Amino acid sequence: METFLPYFTGKFSLRWQDILDVVLLSLVFYRILILIRGTRTIPMLIGFVALLGLYLVSLMMNLEATQLLLDNLGQSLVLVLVVLFQADIRNALEQIGVFTLFREGLNKKKDVVDSILQACLVMSQKSIGALIVLEQEVGLKNYSDRGTKINAAVSESLLLSVFHPSSPLHDGAVVISNKGDLLAAQCILPVSMNSRLSSSLGTRHRAAIGLTEETDAAVLIVSEERKEISLSYRGHLIRGKNQDIRKSLLEVLEGKIPPAIQKKEIKETSSKKSNVKAEKKSQTNEVEVASKNTTLK
Ligand code: ATP
Ligand code: MG
Repeated sequence: METFLPYFTGKFSLRWQDILDVVLLSLVFYRILILIRGTRTIPMLIGFVALLGLYLVSLMMNLEATQLLLDNLGQSLVLVLVVLFQADIRNALEQIGVFTLFREGLNKKKDVVDSILQACLVMSQKSIGALIVLEQEVGLKNYSDRGTKINAAVSESLLLSVFHPSSPLHDGAVVISNKGDLLAAQCILPVSMNSRLSSSLGTRHRAAIGLTEETDAAVLIVSEERKEISLSYRGHLIRGKNQDIRKSLLEVLEGKIPPAIQKKEIKETSSKKSNVKAEKKSQTNEVEVASKNTTLK
């Protein structure tokens, strides 16, 4: 407490080290928040903060039984946290390893993005299904390591060969790094358990949504049934015409949230707050961009 006293009494001089301290801490917290944004970590953290609050209340009110229970829980808390967040901790350490603050993303490589979209267009016209994961800030090694390693610069022809129905690699997803390398094929993604998703969505679309609920990846889906290209981001599915999907994808890669998703999220938050049951259709996580016509011809 004494350390903070000068700040309250005004008897302190600001050193350059203090400013550096604040800047560094802000950067660390900013990175942590970006890493856990949209993941399951947030609800868990809220749970831990609630437990901490309960512990403080039990201390103030001298609730011995609650204190004893939470004391014992607290002793094994570090272990519990490491086990619960092992995937996130591993991701975070990988991020720090390459210091992604100054890393170039796919947004700087529009030609790569266009060749990926061109492959999607060709596949949609030929009724070939595909699942293409574009890694952003959160590392996806967890998923690419479990697939078949490819490690080659992505190109339209490479994607067409991988997803060709006669290719042994066509099942599952490909993961493309933020440097534009196709890391692996046949990757299995976590399927979304969101009960509000439209029942017309099959496992390919649910796997894309599942991954984007947990990470900041952008996932392109080519539907073999509907012959259309969709984009999943932040647990939502964006459907629309080709050029609209391209626009939304570039926004996502630039770190922006496409307006269609922003609107959807604002709507969801306000409907939760007012606790009003929205209509069944608006409860699905599907977002249509710009055009009503979703068929690619
Ligand atoms: P489509 O519109 O193309 O028919 P869909 O959403 O209806 O897609 P399915 O028809 O069930 O989904 O697609 C099955 C294919 O999706 C599988 O053959 C596989 O390639 C891919 N897939 C399904 N689940 C996963 C998963 N968890 N991870 C990666 N790929 C998956
Ligand atoms: Mg299907």
